[in-house]
Amino acid sequence: MTSAPDTRHLIPDEVEQWAQGLLSATRDAHLALCAECRTIAERERRLLRELAQLTRFAPEFGFVERVMAKVRIPTPSGPHFRPHTDA
Ligand SMILES: [Zn+2]
Repeated sequence: MTSAPDTRHLIPDEVEQWAQGLLSATRDAHLALCAECRTIAERERRLLRELAQLTRFAPEFGFVERVMAKVRIPTPSGPHFRPHTDA
């Protein structure tokens, strides 16, 4: 148990790198052993592929960025309750 392989799960950044074929060999080895990470990675890759297909039909610059902006949940900007100050 001294020379254990890299057992840390992939972080989202690494999953992204893997989907783009940029992941380092050591982390790639973990992926080969870890079903959990593989499931996540395959899902990420499928998502990227679908996005790539979408952009092929609508090859506007910044398309993905705009989609991602819509995905982000807007923070409500309602009126704030202020302490009643009579000063
Ligand atoms: Zn893992």
